[in-house]
Formats: sequence, structure tokens, C-alpha cells
Amino acid sequence: MRKQLILGSFLLSLALLSWLFWPTLPPAPPLIELTGRTMGTTYAIRYAGPAGRQARDQAGVDSVLLSVNQSLSTYIPTSTISRINASTDVGVPLPIDVHFRTVYLASTAVYQDTDGAFNPAVGPLVEAWGFGPERRQTMSQARVDSLRALVRFEAFQLTADSLHLTKSVAGAHLDFSAIAKGYGVDEVGRYLKASGIEAYFVEIGGEVVVRGAHPAGRPWRVGIDRPIEDAVERQLQAVIELERGGLATSGNYRNFYWLDGQKFAHTIDPATGYPARNSLLSVSILAADCMTADAYATAAMVMG
Ligand code: ADP
Ligand code: MG
Repeated sequence: MRKQLILGSFLLSLALLSWLFWPTLPPAPPLIELTGRTMGTTYAIRYAGPAGRQARDQAGVDSVLLSVNQSLSTYIPTSTISRINASTDVGVPLPIDVHFRTVYLASTAVYQDTDGAFNPAVGPLVEAWGFGPERRQTMSQARVDSLRALVRFEAFQLTADSLHLTKSVAGAHLDFSAIAKGYGVDEVGRYLKASGIEAYFVEIGGEVVVRGAHPAGRPWRVGIDRPIEDAVERQLQAVIELERGGLATSGNYRNFYWLDGQKFAHTIDPATGYPARNSLLSVSILAADCMTADAYATAAMVMG
């Protein structure tokens, strides 16, 4: 009886103690959200962490994105890609940087795997159809044919030292827009990881990579837009629970125009030289990284 009483009061004080100390346990770190603009669209980054590190992380992320754009953006005249596009020197080694090399090599793999449906050399056609930095041109079959002669990804070769690229067709242009956002997402993820953030969600213009779990202990949730042309309000087609890896979506419901009753969207079929036309409105691809998902999503839009 006495033993029971002692055990009883011991358990009671244990309960009381845990009740007393329960609220003083350190609270879970809050969810930090960083947002901004890059690559002609918006970015959003989420992770758990002490609020004090937010400004430093944002500055770090912005500098990563700046460095990626300085390499891959066709909208920056001094970028690595713009300098290569502007050059008319055939066979002359043109300097590249590590972002460019990584994306070039990944592009080569997807180009080969999709029988050229993904082709960053579509640059001249993208521009002529009005989906690059310049104004759209008046297009005809003859114009399309003459530009198609410039769409030669093999015209760009890495030199033996992997530090330069040569061009064998003077007018050939590169456009990494279909893969650069995904690469930027991966680069931001790698930056966060290197600065000690183990779990994160990174998104640029709908391309996503996640690692670890949401601070609430569940997978990250990613909304996929319903492909509605010129939607005034964002509607979701699906919500995906993502535990690890990249998710990219390509569609023809945002970047397009109508001309003479025909719809022209920004994914070009390299085989015809015309904007891809098939029954697809949108494609979402899951891959180990976002760069790969991004490239294949564009390829799928071409392949139908
Ligand atoms: P978004 O920019 O909407 O995420 P994508 O990732 O599909 O869409 O990229 C589309 C862009 O890629 C186009 O605007 C164009 O610059 C470029 N592009 C168009 N067609 C191709 C193609 N067949 N292969 C590679 N890049 C392409
Ligand atoms: Mg893409």
C-alpha cells in the first residue's frame, strides 16, 4: 500500500514536472520564406531556421542567381551565352564558365535522348518567332527553312580543356531558357545545403526542387497549375507531395500569341521549325534534379 502510494506520487510529480517544463521546450524554428524576381519570373524559397539568418540567405541566393544569369541569360548582352551568340568566329575557342559547361553537358544528354526534340540550338527560331529578347519577325516557309539551317547543336563543341566552346556555323545561336531555370533552382538548393540548411523548397517560375521534410514533418506540397490560357486567377490541377528531387512543368498556356486564327506558343519543334502543335497543354516531369526535369518537360511538349 505504501509502495503504491510512493509510486503514485512519483508518477504524479513526473506528470506535473513534464507539464511545467513542456511549454519551455524550445519551439520549432519558424518557416522562413524568401521571395524575389529572377529570369523574368518570381522565385520562392522555404526552409526552417532562426529568423536572424534571413537577410544573409537572401543576399546569398540573389548572388547565386546573378551568377547563373550572367552565364546563361540571353537577355544580358555581356553574359557568356550572349557573347557566344554574338561571335561569328568559326573554330575560335570562346571562353565558358562552370554554369555554362554544366548546362551544356546536361543539354547534350537530353538532346541525344530525345532525338533532338530538346535542342538549345533553336535560338534563331525562338527569336524569329518572337519568344526571345527581339521583336518577332514576319515568318514564311522560306524564312523558317533558312533559319532551320542554323539549328545545329553539333555546331557547338567543347574544347579538350573543357574551358572553351567552338562554333562551326557562324550564325548558330544557343538558347538555354528551357533548362536554365531548373539549373538555377538546383544551384540555389546546393547553396542552401552548403550553408547548413538540410530541408528546403526552392521554386523559380514553377520549377521546383525539394530536400528533406517540411518543418511540420510532412512532405513538401507543390501545386501544379491548371493549364488555362491567360488565367486571371491561379487554379490548381493537382497537388504533389514531394519528398526529394525536382519537378518541372512546361506548358503552352502562358507564353503564346494568336495570329490569323492560329496559336503560336513558345516551344519550337526543331524538326519543323514551327511552334510545336499537338494535343498537350502542359507537362510535368519528376526527376532527381530540377535541371533534368526542366529539359525533359520542354522535350515532352515538343514530342506530344
Ligand atoms: P518555361 O520557360 O515556360 O518554363 P520551358 O522550360 O519549356 O518553359 O522553356 C521554353 C523556352 O525554351 C522557350 O521560350 C525557348 O526560349 C526555348 N525553347 C523552345 N523550344 C525549344 C526546344 N525545342 N528545345 C530547347 N529549348 C527550346
Ligand atoms: Mg523546360
